[in-house]
Amino acid sequence: MGIAIVTGGSRGIGAAIAEKLAKDGHDVVINCASSVEKAEAAAQACRAHGVKAYVRQWNVADYAACEAALRQIKEELGAPDILVNNAGITKDGLLVRMTPAQFEAVISTNLVGVFNMTQLAGAMMMRAKRGSIINLSSVVGLTGNAGQANYAASKAGVIGLTKSAAKELGGRGVRVNAVAPGFIESDMTDVLPEDVKKAMLAQIAMKRCGQPEEVAALVSFLASDAASYITGQVLVVDGGML
Ligand code: NAP
Repeated sequence: MGIAIVTGGSRGIGAAIAEKLAKDGHDVVINCASSVEKAEAAAQACRAHGVKAYVRQWNVADYAACEAALRQIKEELGAPDILVNNAGITKDGLLVRMTPAQFEAVISTNLVGVFNMTQLAGAMMMRAKRGSIINLSSVVGLTGNAGQANYAASKAGVIGLTKSAAKELGGRGVRVNAVAPGFIESDMTDVLPEDVKKAMLAQIAMKRCGQPEEVAALVSFLASDAASYITGQVLVVDGGML
């Protein structure tokens, strides 16, 4: 089995993805921005499946930091086989009141971060002539959402980047796909006001929010050889919300 890098793997969906990939037999590198203790707990959960798990703290929005981290991973562990670009943030607000800083912060982490990691790890995968990259988009990137112009723009951008990268890297054996989750229980959605949560639940065919493990199962499939002829796709996991 290979080496998987999961950005933002310290909690929520990223931690569930890291553990599922560990269960699948991959060694895992768990990245986080600041919660090293949580990332270490996520790594422990991975090790329980008999694989190696490492914690690495860096900011995915910082190109030089991504470059240094990937160089070190390659030297110590080898080229990555799987990259999951999961790190993401929200800074919600209505468009007319959104500050440029709010807009730029979300684009930097959610879109520039995916560019940084996909370019750098993608080059390593192209040389190795194998690899699978999975990018976390969102249903909001497909539909837009009031109060989330920055987030929706970043997640729509991730889809364009995914489809372009799939076309460029496919001939070298590297697949690039996106997953678009709906309303998933995590720290990111816990902070939403109760009335917003209620309104979202009403739109979901299955009348419940999703669990991080239900996103992780799809990422695991896309990372695996079972998805060997799937690239450039955006797969929605939303309990029938769209
Ligand atoms: P979360 O619980 O808020 O976790 C976010 C993760 O991203 C944390 O591990 C965080 O690290 C990391 N992170 C944030 N900024 C970073 C940076 N600059 N560099 C490196 N790591 C960074 O979020 P989540 O709900 O699990 O969401 C995971 C992904 O799924 C995101 O891309 C999100 O947009 C997407 N998504 C979520 C939902 C949902 O309903 N939850 C729906 C659709 C899409 P620290 O712990 O160190 O802060």
